[in-house]
Amino acid sequence: MIDVFLTVDVEVWCDGWDDIDAKFGSAFQRYIYGPTPRGDYGLPYQLRQLQEYGLTGVFFIEPLFSTRFGLDPLAEIVGLVRDGGQETQLHLHTEWVDESREPLLDNITGKRQFLHYFSLQEQITLIGAGAQLIGSAGGQHVTAFRAGGFGCNRNTLRALAANHIPFDASYNASIFGPESGISPDRLLVEPVECEGVYEYPMAVFSGGTRTLRHVQLTACSFREMEGLLWQALESGRKAFVILFHNFELLNESMNRPDEIVVNRFRKLCAFLDRHRDCFQVKGFCGLTPALAEAQPSPLKSAAWKTGLRVLEQGMRRGLR
Ligand SMILES: [Zn+2]
Repeated sequence: MIDVFLTVDVEVWCDGWDDIDAKFGSAFQRYIYGPTPRGDYGLPYQLRQLQEYGLTGVFFIEPLFSTRFGLDPLAEIVGLVRDGGQETQLHLHTEWVDESREPLLDNITGKRQFLHYFSLQEQITLIGAGAQLIGSAGGQHVTAFRAGGFGCNRNTLRALAANHIPFDASYNASIFGPESGISPDRLLVEPVECEGVYEYPMAVFSGGTRTLRHVQLTACSFREMEGLLWQALESGRKAFVILFHNFELLNESMNRPDEIVVNRFRKLCAFLDRHRDCFQVKGFCGLTPALAEAQPSPLKSAAWKTGLRVLEQGMRRGLR
């Protein structure tokens, strides 16, 4: 038995920072509902699918945009997730900090893309403000966090502890993880306790190249994910954290569904539903952490599966 976390980072972007007040309304519709001539493929579609298969999803919701555009759109997102019976947790994109109508921090000018650019005290303030926004928008008490772009550092964990948030899912061995200071001597691929917080790292794997990849719906084929899940189970891993986004079932122009990814998502849900005796899909609310005693090497995917994925990704690009 292994714990699997289907984590969804929920965010809205205005595609640039000019004229965002005029652009926000249509951006919100596009990113959250994902309307296409073939139907809506945004957040409600994902929530329905999870519900259909009886699976738990962890929705890391980015709330800082609401310091610019008001609480109502955030409350709409939180309401969708809550009514879908899923977890509302916290995601922070610090690109919004300098766009807030009321300053979130003193002396902020310009963009700082990642949380690790902020001091411990600033991170405490930002995470606290984010958790409060989720609460004001009708969300549950936040118990888990993911930094935008995985841009965390060791202070992030300290800041979470100061805000009484027990779980973090920001560590990614393929992006920022090694230099985050969270685990200077070894790559983290399994849950550990650090600075009074339980760190649940992203599932990562090597696919025959030197670089690691994390397990994300748009970046891995279903066959790869399936193989990695079995491998994680057979090697006695404790946890497997999968990522996707609210807009990830759409093509790049966000005007039609990406059928290949829509299919992957359906196959993944059906697989996890079918193999409940092996894979326990969980959330972070009330979770009793199962910590690893050692950090094994990252999972490996067979080269032929990588080859097929490259082919499949090529097809997706061709279909755009
Ligand atoms: Zn994000």
